[in-house]
Amino acid sequence: MIVLLLGAPGAGKGTHAARIADHTGLPHISSGELLRGAVERKTELGLKAKEHMDAGNLVPDEFMLRWIEELLDDPAYASGIILDGFPRTIPQAEGLDKLLAEKGLSTDLVLLLDISQDAAADRLLSRVTCGKCGAIHNLAQKPMKVPGICDACGGELETRADDVRETIEKRFGEFRKQTEPMIEYYRSRGNFETINTDRPVEVVRKDVQDLLDRISAATSSGSATG
Ligand SMILES: [Zn+2]
Repeated sequence: MIVLLLGAPGAGKGTHAARIADHTGLPHISSGELLRGAVERKTELGLKAKEHMDAGNLVPDEFMLRWIEELLDDPAYASGIILDGFPRTIPQAEGLDKLLAEKGLSTDLVLLLDISQDAAADRLLSRVTCGKCGAIHNLAQKPMKVPGICDACGGELETRADDVRETIEKRFGEFRKQTEPMIEYYRSRGNFETINTDRPVEVVRKDVQDLLDRISAATSSGSATG
């Protein structure tokens, strides 16, 4: 089973991908992990990708597709995979479709986690980093005992809200320009679902659960009749 998780920054892709992985038993890979893994292993492709990232550029589609091909050929992912953060552009989506078709596979679920920019910004802005131990705290979910001080180590928390706001604007701009057209590409095909994640995480979690139950029921009744 191939599952793609799409969504703007702050939409909760990582959180819900982990839940879907628990529920389906499928491994979950984020595009960030894929990049870091290749860079750490110092593969030829990883080193080239690092040059692009160090220069502040996006990693070329061709690189991403070659990593995905490696994953699809890896026996560890033979039963399927949950991809989060990939694909991001129409050329990546088309490349992925081509790769899957060559292997007799196709996407079984494309799930868009839909969030408004305001809600995503609130969520991302409530995250602070401890300057001492590096822990990331979400103040909206759990305020610190002493404001501005890390519960874990007593270090000072760094907010830098303006930087964060600017980064959010930039990432949303990229998302609208590159990824939204790709979402339309998937929307026009089958197996596409949308869940609104402006709502509390527990409510969204239930919707994701219901969706997975519906899909597994449909899959089992399909195999029973056909
Ligand atoms: Zn700390």
